[in-house]
Amino acid sequence: MMKIGSRRAFIQKMGVTAIGAPLLSNVSDLMAMQKMHDAAGTLRVAIMGLGSYGTRVAKAMQTCERAKLVGVISGTPSKIAEWQKTYDIPEKNCYNYNNYGDIKDNPDIDAVYVITPNALHAPHTIGVAQAGKHVICEKPMAINAKEGEGMVAACRAANVKLLVGYRMHFEPHTLEVIRMRKANEFGKIMFFQGQSGFRIGNPDQWRLNYDLSGGGSMMDIGIYSINGARYMIGEEPIWVTAQETKTDPVKFKKGIDETIQFQMGFPSGVVASCLSTYAVSHLDRFYLNGVDGFAEMQPSTGYGPIKARTHLGRMDQPIVTHQTVQMDEMAKIILDGNSPEVPVDGEEAVKDLRIIDAIYKAVKKGKKVML
Ligand code: NAD
Repeated sequence: MMKIGSRRAFIQKMGVTAIGAPLLSNVSDLMAMQKMHDAAGTLRVAIMGLGSYGTRVAKAMQTCERAKLVGVISGTPSKIAEWQKTYDIPEKNCYNYNNYGDIKDNPDIDAVYVITPNALHAPHTIGVAQAGKHVICEKPMAINAKEGEGMVAACRAANVKLLVGYRMHFEPHTLEVIRMRKANEFGKIMFFQGQSGFRIGNPDQWRLNYDLSGGGSMMDIGIYSINGARYMIGEEPIWVTAQETKTDPVKFKKGIDETIQFQMGFPSGVVASCLSTYAVSHLDRFYLNGVDGFAEMQPSTGYGPIKARTHLGRMDQPIVTHQTVQMDEMAKIILDGNSPEVPVDGEEAVKDLRIIDAIYKAVKKGKKVML
């Protein structure tokens, strides 16, 4: 019987992924074997971008059952050395931004988690895909829908999976509200409110530099209300309207939105009324209203603990470390072919990016924009 490592290498050589379509019947047998192995296997992940969120993900991965941090990609040698020591990462799994294409020759890394500034997600994701590795990319997946579509196409062409760090799609309170909505426990859904914001500090950070962020609060935090409206309501919007306010044009330069209020209309007649801002702290609330009931979550998308109540009372779902659950579930998507309750793939992210494009257009034109 072929050994696990050589099976992986063989499948890689044949140009198919663990969940790609089988090309030959003997490959399909081999893939069935691979699936059996991987059902108990581990997704071996390298993190690209060892910043604040990369550090959080690395810590959370220490308690994963199906995902393991095995490599790093960074432009800072001192950070690489520190991570090697902390996480026992071998030298052969360490790369920088100039040589990470060599990862294609490394059979001990299955996927790269891209956690760099927004505008670098597209080139980094495409680079990783071309090196034949699965990609997990942070949100926003790209800085506009066109760029996002290019990432989806590049990953498809390379026959690798593209997943996006939508950690709330695995969060128990969130999933319970979605279950209740699907079971019609709120009755016909009429209204959603999403409020997402925090007070941003240091004016020199990349989030306030258009070339690296691709936009302001909408890209960074408003996206939670867009994405949340879609999974809470369970429909795709058909129009948006939006209004921008800016109280500090020195800090929030051209292209960097400080605050945008926006509305999304859905086919059934539901309207979502949302707020995205860098101007106030602790703004993190979802409210879903049907004719028979409601769900309120506050905090709704922060790191937790998520708190929620419905017309039936307080919700009592397990408190989890979002990134631990996310990475275990993503391992099951990549290795076992699992389908999550709410999608986390590149196409899902492009839907959010199309809405962001439309919101910016609605602000500029001062008019309703159809999707
Ligand atoms: P950060 O500034 O703390 O880290 C960014 C990392 O990218 C740093 O290590 C930096 O060295 C590296 N980098 C590589 N090339 C760079 C360049 N040219 N300029 C600047 N930095 C460069 O930022 P962060 O908070 O970790 O955010 C990174 C990504 O993660 C963003 O896309 C952000 O939206 C996302 N994020 C997601 C969540 C979530 O809950 N899903 C939370 C925070 C951040």
